[in-house]
Amino acid sequence: MASQVVREWIGINNFAPATQDKLLELLGKLKQENVATLTVLVMGKGGVGKSSTVNSIIGERAVSVSPFQSEVPRPVMVSRSRAGFTLNVIDTPGIIEGGYINDQALEIIKRFLLNKTIDILLYVDRLDAYRVDNLEKQVIRAITESFGKAIWSRALVVLTHAQFSPPDGLPYDEFFSKRSEALLKTVRAGASFSKRDTQVPKIPVVLVENSGRCNKNDKDEKVLPNGTAWIPHLVETITEVVSNGSKSIFVDKKLIEGPNPNQRGKLLIPLILALQYLFVVKPIKQAIISDISNEKRLSWEVDA
Ligand code: GDP
Ligand code: MG
Repeated sequence: MASQVVREWIGINNFAPATQDKLLELLGKLKQENVATLTVLVMGKGGVGKSSTVNSIIGERAVSVSPFQSEVPRPVMVSRSRAGFTLNVIDTPGIIEGGYINDQALEIIKRFLLNKTIDILLYVDRLDAYRVDNLEKQVIRAITESFGKAIWSRALVVLTHAQFSPPDGLPYDEFFSKRSEALLKTVRAGASFSKRDTQVPKIPVVLVENSGRCNKNDKDEKVLPNGTAWIPHLVETITEVVSNGSKSIFVDKKLIEGPNPNQRGKLLIPLILALQYLFVVKPIKQAIISDISNEKRLSWEVDA
């Protein structure tokens, strides 16, 4: 992390004064709790608004945003400091390619995070989606296998495109709660939390609207359809998760060099081949050999 350029967090000045006041108050609270640095890891499928969310939090265009999936395949850490507090936000590329986890992209992310401490995971998806697909589960599983189940105690689910009208006149809050529940269910399944787990973390779900056309309140703060000023609300929820008593995740070699779920299957291949040889091929071979030696030559085969 030493090589990282830490710039003054001037983007904060771009927020409405009320948002700035609230953010500075929250940073002050964190400092009181001896949290002087916060490292936020942003992950999720491609095109869901990860980079846009990074820019919204920082208050400037720090990372590039694209409507197409031409993402830079590398993670980027944006560091900003303000009044003795440093915020690191790590933007990552989507790790799905052709319907599967791109192991190489995941490896690059893991190596990038080596020796870093993840204080918060923002798991990003869109609000305006109607079902949770299998890719979601794969991404959640890959995150869990990479950083351990405990990362979900430090996680927030972020739903972008929050300025959206649900279909069929469904009330906004009802749509939001249904979408949240479906996603959280997938997180619990993908992270293998079972009903018997006593430590299933309560993961907050927060709404984000990155569009420049986001509605504003009379204090010029960007607001959600339900009237909440979302930037302070997001940062406040982050501070709550930081103080929930769980530990940050330190990414050491042991954590990232453990067998990856996709390689674990591959490790079994020699074992399966050996068992196949022992229990299938060998007995058949022996049966054939004993068959041949027992076989009496048939009469029509006997030389004349
Ligand atoms: P990433 O691939 O997850 O990093 O997604 P990007 O941040 O690059 O965003 C993909 C596209 O969605 C871009 O065209 C963004 O402008 C757009 N986008 C991202 N977040 C929002 C949002 O909250 N609302 C709207 N309307 N568009 C968004
Ligand atoms: Mg991106």
